Amino acid sequence: MGDLSYTYGWGSLSLRIGVLSTARLAAEGDPARWRRRALTLALHEAGHLASLPHCTFFRCLMNGALTPEEADQRPAILCPVCRAKLCWNLDRDPGARDRAVAVALEAAGLPEDARAAWRVADANEGQ
Ligand SMILES: [Zn+2]
Ligand SMILES: [Zn+2]
Repeated sequence: MGDLSYTYGWGSLSLRIGVLSTARLAAEGDPARWRRRALTLALHEAGHLASLPHCTFFRCLMNGALTPEEADQRPAILCPVCRAKLCWNLDRDPGARDRAVAVALEAAGLPEDARAAWRVADANEGQ
């Protein structure tokens, strides 16, 4: 885990364990922003548990972030490269996963992120 004095989250690719803390995700007076920060942090760490490293290919859920403000800039969904890796790692059907992600983001109260997920699902329909 290195010499981090604190962490927002951490996930081990090899050990399949992770932690996250919402203590430093403060978004004063903006509970929707706090909820998005907490949920996308959990999704990001789950990506690490599923063997995804930090992404440097595109804007992606798996982009590294050092601050909550930086994390706000990353999407709640995976880029095409990480999506392909995850589906291969977990032996998942990409199309079914795309639709499940969109539904989950809607249910989580993240409508903008859900719309982005539906665009991916629609664009990849039939693949
Ligand atoms: Zn990370
Ligand atoms: Zn990526």
